[in-house]
Amino acid sequence: MAEAQFFVEGDLVAVLTTEPLGRALDYKAPEGGCFAGAFVEVPLGPRRVLGVVWGPGEGGFDPAKIRSVTRVLDAAPMGEAMRAFLMRAADYTLTPMPAMLRLATRAPGLADPPGPRKVYRRGWQEPDRMTAARARVLEVLEAYGGAAFTLSELAGLAGVTTGVVKGLVKQGAVAEEEAPRDVPYPRLDPDLSGKALTEDQAAAAERLRAGITAGRYGTTLLKGVTGSGKTEVYLEAVAECLRKGRQALVLLPEIALTSEFLARVEERFGARPGEWHSGVTQTERRRLWRMAGEGGVGLVVGARSALFLPFRDLGLIVVDEEHDTSYKQEDGVLYNARDMAVLRAAMTDAQVVLASATPCLETWVNAESGKYARIDLTARFGAAELPPMRAIDMREERLEASRWISPTLVQMVAGRIAGGEQALLFLNRRGYAPVTICRACGHQIGCHQCDARMVEHRFLKRLVCHQCGDSAPMPTACPSCKAEGRLAPVGPGVERLAEEVAERFPDARVAVLSSDLFGSARALKEKIEEIARGGADIIIGTQLVAKGHNFPLLTLVGVIDADLGLQGSDLRAAERTFQLMRQVSGRAGRAEKKGEAYLQTCQPDHPVIRAILSGAEEAFWRAEAAERQAAGMPPYGRLAGIILSSPDVQQVFDFGAELARRAWPLARIGAQVFGPAPAPVARVRGRHRVRLLVKGPKGASLQAAVAEWLGQLRVPNNLRLSVDIDPQSFY
Ligand code: ADP
Ligand code: ZN
Repeated sequence: MAEAQFFVEGDLVAVLTTEPLGRALDYKAPEGGCFAGAFVEVPLGPRRVLGVVWGPGEGGFDPAKIRSVTRVLDAAPMGEAMRAFLMRAADYTLTPMPAMLRLATRAPGLADPPGPRKVYRRGWQEPDRMTAARARVLEVLEAYGGAAFTLSELAGLAGVTTGVVKGLVKQGAVAEEEAPRDVPYPRLDPDLSGKALTEDQAAAAERLRAGITAGRYGTTLLKGVTGSGKTEVYLEAVAECLRKGRQALVLLPEIALTSEFLARVEERFGARPGEWHSGVTQTERRRLWRMAGEGGVGLVVGARSALFLPFRDLGLIVVDEEHDTSYKQEDGVLYNARDMAVLRAAMTDAQVVLASATPCLETWVNAESGKYARIDLTARFGAAELPPMRAIDMREERLEASRWISPTLVQMVAGRIAGGEQALLFLNRRGYAPVTICRACGHQIGCHQCDARMVEHRFLKRLVCHQCGDSAPMPTACPSCKAEGRLAPVGPGVERLAEEVAERFPDARVAVLSSDLFGSARALKEKIEEIARGGADIIIGTQLVAKGHNFPLLTLVGVIDADLGLQGSDLRAAERTFQLMRQVSGRAGRAEKKGEAYLQTCQPDHPVIRAILSGAEEAFWRAEAAERQAAGMPPYGRLAGIILSSPDVQQVFDFGAELARRAWPLARIGAQVFGPAPAPVARVRGRHRVRLLVKGPKGASLQAAVAEWLGQLRVPNNLRLSVDIDPQSFY
């Protein structure tokens, strides 16, 4: 690594802060000097704020008026490659630098000194008197098993005052101790013997290792059906990276970050990796953030934002389930962690492994064109085989009203569970019923602040808007015609499907996996692990279940409505349906027992359904790619979405129209602008939403043109504008 630039006391330095200012500000280097990249505290008006020394100051101001850096924080300076990455990511996503820096400093207490501090754990005694507040504290300690918390963190999680915790300390029910902060993570041993790899797996691992050894940037698509051993293979690349003394990062969709996965890492390397996701305590977040910078952690396993940790020397980034839509952050800074991983790796001579059974079209095309290497694992490990898939033609099944499981499927499920195996019924719809209609007047209950229908959630006894999250008690009378008792559910959600299952299989143990039925990511993961151990006969799930869990007893998958995803007008509808159906059916028969999958469909001849059933993947990708190419759509063209929103419908349309009139910077690069048009969801939380879509040729510098275009107009105060480069969804 290059020697970092050093500034002596009094030198002018430019400091980037997380405050929404247009640029870095000049300060004088403090007593003792500082390195470029140092984390510092600087005065800003009457406050002190966090910042990073970005480089030499610009000068040009009255030197007498320039203030000094207050102090240099005790954290490893941000490396040059990391600073360069943040700038490139900001340019790519058209995000202001302060917002980028906020992403990279999302850990608590960065300004606190590193000395020991007091932490709290479960003590040996029971409290003399149990109150609701005390019980909550003990529950939190219980839930995180053995973890230590700071006082404010524990009180915050339990929703009690710090006095309650202190009271429990007096009684010995909570133990208070001095603990060193931020100790390094246990070293992972890459040379423990892993599983004996099959010939295919060994060849794949060898190719990935060679990339690591070369010490250069490179991206590889690791494509293989679920259960083919992709994880085993990329763990060998991790091992090689650790041997080289460099750090590795494995990104997973949040929901796939289960203790099952962590246990696998532990089995391979003899210790647990650093973890970064929403279920990690603040104390651990801070420790991991610091250790990433100091090199005190070898492997980090995390959700998408782990990509912005200040790794000291990152040599490998694995993006598992790379097609997963949760890698795209859809609010705040709009970025796609998969694409940013490639960007970051390119700047630190790191390798990227994109693992998937069903890569996204962009990745498939990049592999075809040779931009990415590609490795295929074609067989499932051991006896496990990809299940045969068949269509159930719903036009020929006899179904009673308000029933969704066809007689054919019922029979299949019954057969499986009688043999002690598990069946999964997949329906990608949360709640009880997607529509509530009044049988007296035909009114459909909608959200009062969005352009969306309210979804009945019987478990919550409420109507919920899936756009804004607003909810209301289930009314007894129609809000429109006031008729009592005439409201009726239309169509199924997973909760309603569960009712049907309970009636048809009264003796089966049924588990419903839907994100809204669990209070926390942790509770959901526990449920998943229980199911994996055999804690249910029938699993009913939304797209949550498609994400990389291992259910060894699962041998039958029934997709309730395979046509659901085909209805959208979305650019990616076909691709998404294809991925989802293949992923879901990949859940069946992962262990020794043979699995099978059934798709209930009314369009068995639809090209997407046919491609899913026949398994003609490459043909599907080629057809889909040809269609995109003909339309000049990504990845053969570029898109940027502009979303405007305002409480004032006239204002938002006027502003959009004015933007459209001034599109000359876009025309210059051969890009067109479409809109303004009402967004598919035209109102959210009372704000009217309007979209413009910019479509440009591949290779044009779209971001620069968009920035110039938008820079022409000042955004009025109550109007919000956000730019979505490479949009994934169009809601
Ligand atoms: P993928 O990541 O492609 O879904 P995994 O790596 O999770 O596949 O492998 C699926 C299952 O098969 C896991 O339980 C894994 O431990 C097991 N497995 C894969 N390869 C081997 C191997 N060579 N030896 C022993 N078990 C293996
Ligand atoms: Zn709403």
